[in-house]
Amino acid sequence: MIITNIKFAMLKVPLTTPFKTAIRQVNAIEDLVVLIETDSGEIGFGAAPATPVITGDTHKSIMAAVENHIKPVLINQAVEQLNNLINQVHGAIVHNMSAKAAVEIALYDLWGKLYQKPLYQLLGGGTAKLTTDITISVDSIEKMLSDSLHAIMLGFEVLKIKIGKDIHQDIERVKAIYQEVKGKAVIRLDVNQGWTAKQTVFAARKLEQAGVELELIEQPVKADDFAGIKYVTERVSTPIMADESAFSPRQVIELIQAQAIDIINIKLMKTGGISNAIKIADIAKIYGIDCMIGCMLEGSIGVAAAAHVAVAKATSITKIDLDGPALGKFDPVIGGVCFDNAHITLGNGSGLGIQEISKLHYF
Ligand code: MG
Repeated sequence: MIITNIKFAMLKVPLTTPFKTAIRQVNAIEDLVVLIETDSGEIGFGAAPATPVITGDTHKSIMAAVENHIKPVLINQAVEQLNNLINQVHGAIVHNMSAKAAVEIALYDLWGKLYQKPLYQLLGGGTAKLTTDITISVDSIEKMLSDSLHAIMLGFEVLKIKIGKDIHQDIERVKAIYQEVKGKAVIRLDVNQGWTAKQTVFAARKLEQAGVELELIEQPVKADDFAGIKYVTERVSTPIMADESAFSPRQVIELIQAQAIDIINIKLMKTGGISNAIKIADIAKIYGIDCMIGCMLEGSIGVAAAAHVAVAKATSITKIDLDGPALGKFDPVIGGVCFDNAHITLGNGSGLGIQEISKLHYF
């Protein structure tokens, strides 16, 4: 199976509720879709969203990196040589992790099609079902309470609460939500770098004293504040998870060896795709550290790939935060992974299992 061309398209899905974090608000899922064509007629699908304030990647930068640097090393190459192709993708340009992720996802999709198996089976197998949490955007207490109760009504048992705007309001938000949902749902907090290390210790202790039990606190401090995240982890009993602080396998090794974190959040857009996500899951397993698998605000192509990795690496990826596709008003991807609120089901199709994508706007 020889790669003959790489094409691009945009895919836009409006959200049912605007997505608000400490650093941004978004109203639609907008993915750049990468389509890798082959001489066998099979097409590999990959995708990446623009996340300028997280990874530094935009749709235009992703397209330029693929078109000018990654595509030239892949044309006329055989999908059978997957590991060699992955090495060439990562060697073609530094950084640009979302571009590498989109291409890797499409390459692994083709690899599955080549051997006519679902990707998770080729990655080692597992149970083809996952249960995800749902994101509750930061907002007024009343709105966050109603969103939380609505999510529980839809069957979600884990809520990922976005905070990190004003620490005193944040503490009140969490206390109010906990009182309302305890016994019905578990709470994860995602601070999205909104607090300092000392503020995090202050807030965590206040919440612990108030009897609020949290499953974890995610990325309370700035991405590059390694000393800060270690300071927090040493001082609070609630588990601390690294998200924006942990992109590469090397960073994960450094965080774990420094005992700076309790949990790692793996995202394909940070690792540059599936190969490094697998490495991180394996590293975490060696050290007995749990992983979450997360996604950006992105649709069901990239998130399907994350789901396949999660199933195959379920012994270290114990927490699933793959709610991106469920936040959209519809899913334009036919076949592939089924996202039904909290329930994610992987199909039997080859690779990612995608049969068709409606509403693609080609460049
Ligand atoms: Mg996060």
